Amino acid sequence: MLYGLDIGGTKIELAVFDEHQQSITSKRIPTPTDSYDAFLGSISQLITDMDKELSTHGKVGMGIPGFINPNSSLAQCANVPCTNGKPLQTDLEKILERPVKIENDANCFALSEAIGGAGDDVGTVLGLILGTGFGGGIVIDKKLHGGENNLAGEVGHTPLPWRVFQLASDDFPIVQCGCGMHGCLDTYLSGRGLELIYQYYSKQTLKGKDIVALYRNGGETANKAVQIYCELLASSLGSLINTLDPGTIVLGGGLSNFSELYELVPPLLSKYALNNGQLPAIKKAVFGDSGGVRGAAMLNL
Ligand SMILES: [Zn+2]
Repeated sequence: MLYGLDIGGTKIELAVFDEHQQSITSKRIPTPTDSYDAFLGSISQLITDMDKELSTHGKVGMGIPGFINPNSSLAQCANVPCTNGKPLQTDLEKILERPVKIENDANCFALSEAIGGAGDDVGTVLGLILGTGFGGGIVIDKKLHGGENNLAGEVGHTPLPWRVFQLASDDFPIVQCGCGMHGCLDTYLSGRGLELIYQYYSKQTLKGKDIVALYRNGGETANKAVQIYCELLASSLGSLINTLDPGTIVLGGGLSNFSELYELVPPLLSKYALNNGQLPAIKKAVFGDSGGVRGAAMLNL
């Protein structure tokens, strides 16, 4: 059995799959965020109970909103402060008495879509999350490409394309990102990016879903904000296409449900990517919100 664990800021989900990727069962518990011992204890209990229930000794994969530093083996995980700077993998392997694979949750999302998902039919899949942040994962021939420092796919922390100043104007707001740098794509292509662009034009603060509703009702400012967002997304995808030449780009996260993106963005790509007539398909994630936990389980395929 393959166990996938998805660690969120408020809940931990365990999903179980068989070797043929069929879903067996799942369970959710609250995330202990203050005490590292309580965090390890909760996961240990969850896995031990599942082993008993299914009379098995499942293989464990875990997705975290952060990553394990391959040099120090210590976790960096902003939403679960108690795990920060801790040897999470080593400790879990000791407690659970088995190997534990840990990956960034965006990488898990990409892996899930490359195995039986929207990118199943191509060799190179770029999975991108347009959610509370903008992050991604790269899967080549059904294997994650982590890079030398486990940072491959961290596309959210690359700079805003210069074209935005041509499309908007020189006073387009350059915001400092959580990573410390300024003007990271994470700020502009996540859900709050659409909100920020809308605010820039309207001087009003609205939630992403309300901006989408206004856009659908023909609102002029919402239309402008969506246009700029799509151009930013397309120009960012252009650089990624030139670098990776993926067969499919799969979108997940809240904004991936904005179905108009799949009509508005593809025609813009040829402006920003080199191509010989063959640009990658841009598809919505098949597994939606459960992509991360499924991908964590697939780490042991
Ligand atoms: Zn950043």
